[in-house]
Amino acid sequence: MCSDFTNSRDLISGQNKAMKTEIVVIGAGPAGMMAAIAAAECGKQVIIFEKNKSAGKKLLLTGNGRCNLTNAVNNSNLVAGFYKNGRFLYKAFAQFGSQELMDWFSGQDVPLMIDDNRVFPKSQHSADILKALLDRVKSLEIEVYYNSPVLELIVEGNLLSGVRTATRTVFCNSVIVATGGLSWTKTGSDGDGYRFARQVSHSIVKPKPGLVGLELTDNAQSGLTGLTLTGIAAGLYCDDLLVAVEKGDMIFTHYGISGPLILNLSRFVANEKCKQNYLVLDLFPDQSVESLQHQMILIIKENTKKQLKNVVSLMVPERLADFILTSCNVKQSTQVSQLKRSDLLNIIRFMKTWQLPISKSRPFEEAMVTVGGVSLTEINPSTMESKICSGLFFAGEVLNLDGRSGGFNLQAAFSTGRLAGIKA
Ligand SMILES: Cc1cc2nc3c(=O)[nH]c(=O)nc-3n(C[C@H](O)[C@H](O)[C@H](O)COP(=O)(O)OP(=O)(O)OC[C@H]3O[C@@H](n4cnc5c(N)ncnc54)[C@H](O)[C@@H]3O)c2cc1C
Repeated sequence: MCSDFTNSRDLISGQNKAMKTEIVVIGAGPAGMMAAIAAAECGKQVIIFEKNKSAGKKLLLTGNGRCNLTNAVNNSNLVAGFYKNGRFLYKAFAQFGSQELMDWFSGQDVPLMIDDNRVFPKSQHSADILKALLDRVKSLEIEVYYNSPVLELIVEGNLLSGVRTATRTVFCNSVIVATGGLSWTKTGSDGDGYRFARQVSHSIVKPKPGLVGLELTDNAQSGLTGLTLTGIAAGLYCDDLLVAVEKGDMIFTHYGISGPLILNLSRFVANEKCKQNYLVLDLFPDQSVESLQHQMILIIKENTKKQLKNVVSLMVPERLADFILTSCNVKQSTQVSQLKRSDLLNIIRFMKTWQLPISKSRPFEEAMVTVGGVSLTEINPSTMESKICSGLFFAGEVLNLDGRSGGFNLQAAFSTGRLAGIKA
């Protein structure tokens, strides 16, 4: 319950103001703004505290500045985008799924476009998504306090009564923690939400970087930097166990590997039970070894006078052709007519099962999401309220939820934010 303080009464010093409201939202990211909007639309008095000098710093970076705000699939497919933890989101998506989110932004005069199920503002500017949210915040007269990091929750026993910033003590009925996780920390999400959760004894699933590039154990591939491989498949192994498979595109970078396929696999890397992670790449996932061998023999027959390097370059980019032949200990200058059968089989084996040992993920500063966070078993999925501390709600990436790339993570932030705002 709210304590009976009047607005702006001096408390400890002349600067520390005591205020009263119904709901405090911590964080003006997508989850926090949507939570505040939903609460205000339900007629509740709500204020937002934001650590940065402006809202939605990370939102502006999304989709390379284009903001891939959701994925136009049904709720079951949205849920599937969140791996084992997706089931937690059924209720939030049933209440506010991708269609409802698209309708909401269209209703705010933001035309949208869909590209291969990925939904963007038609303008291709994430700033338009942020502006729509802020316009709605303003029209609902929600006060946003910028440069105002919340320092702690005010809790006695397990009774939540408000929050404290450096200059304000705010008493309220409910607090919605929408502080994000630990990813791309310079945008403001630096783990404060976990601290608030721990204050009331919530457990935190150890956070690690997700949707992030991977470093390789050696630099044998350094000559491939900048090379993109499209339409390949990769299996991620933990020791001898296959843990995940993806199809898509990847790129060699100065530190190792990245690209959509790698980002989606990265959440499975660095499992503590695993001594060595490695990838097995299949450069021709739609062809069996036999059909690839058949194709290569045909190409060889048509190019008998060429050097092997030039023939392999007809199948893969030239730089990769050099790399494959070196890795298979075959001279680049070999005339194809003189190619030994065992070398041909080695080249094909390499193309179908290229092993890349991984040393680690790139750091949180480069991660698009956080894998881990506030344990879902302690949160009510119908309301987003803590099962430990009544009146405390969580929304967005602070929760132990991480989705595939393609708009899933913003959808989860909006859906959980909306549900928390309605129920708080
Ligand atoms: C480069 C990049 C690109 C991405 N692209 C996409 C994409 O295209 N599509 C997609 O679905 N997802 C994308 N994501 C992921 C997506 O941006 C996040 O999942 C989403 O922003 C999470 O929303 P949130 O509101 O939970 O947290 P955040 O967006 O991190 O917002 C949290 C807010 O809380 C504030 N805060 C933190 N602590 C406090 C405190 N103590 N007091 C007050 N305020 C505080 C922070 O300053 C911040 O403003 C991308 C992420 C990155 C880094």
